[in-house]
Amino acid sequence: MRHNGIHHVTAIAGSAQRNHDFYTNTLGLRLVKRTVNFDDPGTYHLYYGDETGTPGSILTFFPWSHVAPGRLGVGETQETMLRVPESAIGYWAHRFVEKGVSHQTPLKRFGETVLAFKDPDGMRLSLVGIPGIEAEPGWTGGGIPAEHAIRGFHGVSLLLAEAEATAAILTGVLGFTETAREEEVIRFKAGDTAQGGVVDIRVAGEFLPARMGGGSVHHIAFRAADDEAQAAMVRKLKDEHGIRTTEQVDRNYFRSVYFREPGGVLFEIATDEPGFAVDEPVAELGHALKLPATLERRRKEIEDVLQPL
Ligand code: ZN
Repeated sequence: MRHNGIHHVTAIAGSAQRNHDFYTNTLGLRLVKRTVNFDDPGTYHLYYGDETGTPGSILTFFPWSHVAPGRLGVGETQETMLRVPESAIGYWAHRFVEKGVSHQTPLKRFGETVLAFKDPDGMRLSLVGIPGIEAEPGWTGGGIPAEHAIRGFHGVSLLLAEAEATAAILTGVLGFTETAREEEVIRFKAGDTAQGGVVDIRVAGEFLPARMGGGSVHHIAFRAADDEAQAAMVRKLKDEHGIRTTEQVDRNYFRSVYFREPGGVLFEIATDEPGFAVDEPVAELGHALKLPATLERRRKEIEDVLQPL
């Protein structure tokens, strides 16, 4: 079966250690890959997700210890939404108080219970309570009981000056359809994709442009089953929307193309193949620093500049 929706979300963090502690301990996600930014190998690239790093569960970070904080504005991701069982919202609200996590009182959006919170770098996130997902597997290795554990992404919301051109890419190329509107927010869904199947566009009109920095989302990656599906999307972007992507880049765990969507957000299309178990067994994901073959000969030099986690 063909799946669309979000493959991963990549954001910018400050301290790698603080980022690691928050996502693995406070939120209880699994560190599924410990590697470096292939374009800047002196920096970690940390991948968090479910047990195997299923597409639709992967939140990744470039930690830059001296990064200036970002400023919310148009042309960027406003919020990254994670799924939890509806019955778990109370548990999480209590946990956030206990752990001193900055959060808001739960509210309703599109009929769903939403608990908005921020990570230590000010990244805007939320837990969205979804009824009937208790039976989906949840990663318990981070100490969160299975009935409360995070089940991948719900989706993302984009803060844009206007919706039309971006909506055309979501519906015409990326497999989404408009399903609802609430105030200034338009909701798009990727068929029946459960994890990462939602993109909300919040129309902001005239507003300050975003300034990328700590706590900002760097880009959003959408799923393509394989190279062929990705190539078809690349052709559609060019032929029907006049948008050229980069050449395909091998990211070891998936293969990617990138483009700037008309609203200003950096989009990626990443293949589901080959996945995170390509260079270490599932049981050991995230334990060792993994490097692509091209960087392996510089391992000593790279390990010397990275702070151990
Ligand atoms: Zn990416």
